[in-house]
Amino acid sequence: MENEDQYHQALKPKYECLLFDLDDTLYPRSSGLSAEVTKNIQEYMLHKLGIEDGKIPQLCVSLYKNYGTTMAGLKAIGYNFQYDDFHGYVHGRLPYDMLKPDPVLRGLLLSLPIRKVDDADVDPISRIEVFDIDKYLSRPDASLVLPRTPVVCKPFEGAYEKVFNIANINPQRTLFFDDSIRNLLSGKRMGLHTVLVGTSHRTQGVDNALESIHNIREALPELWEAEEELESVRYSRKVAIETPVKA
Ligand SMILES: [Mg+2]
Repeated sequence: MENEDQYHQALKPKYECLLFDLDDTLYPRSSGLSAEVTKNIQEYMLHKLGIEDGKIPQLCVSLYKNYGTTMAGLKAIGYNFQYDDFHGYVHGRLPYDMLKPDPVLRGLLLSLPIRKVDDADVDPISRIEVFDIDKYLSRPDASLVLPRTPVVCKPFEGAYEKVFNIANINPQRTLFFDDSIRNLLSGKRMGLHTVLVGTSHRTQGVDNALESIHNIREALPELWEAEEELESVRYSRKVAIETPVKA
């Protein structure tokens, strides 16, 4: 019996779960869709939050750097808006026809023999107190701390912990695909095995790199091999059991 357990343990695939980022990972940057997301975010900041046009690009950079996403940062520095309104404006108005069906990716994902989990109302602006993050960053003041955001998002540990709990993921047996090195490095600190998508050059601290998600089978054949091996063992055991009956 003990041998049996060892036997199954040896056949257990190294990875039991794949966790994918979406933008610029499952679909490529060249589709132009993520540029539309940025454009919509900037329009939301201009039209719905009343932020001065000239300040928006730099503010986006500062918020993304410090809070993981622009939306998380906007909440942190004091803007009051409903998440549904933001997402409706930013994602609800995207020209999704820019994304063409990808039969190659579909075939690859469907053929994977393991579990997959996909790692994404403004009140009329009353004059609210907004933290000036760009001023703060250009002249850091030790007596001040950056305000906290209520939003949970990559690359922060809390976001990974939430995903692990919600989807019942064991990070040690999960491959995490993302185009952001920052996200991959924090994912790796949380125990995930990491795959950088969008370049074939492996960066320090990242386990694998793929030029495109289409290269997944060539770069990580073990994802398919484990199941094939199990199938062949199942078959040979079946034959071994059936043979004496025939005899
Ligand atoms: Mg991405």
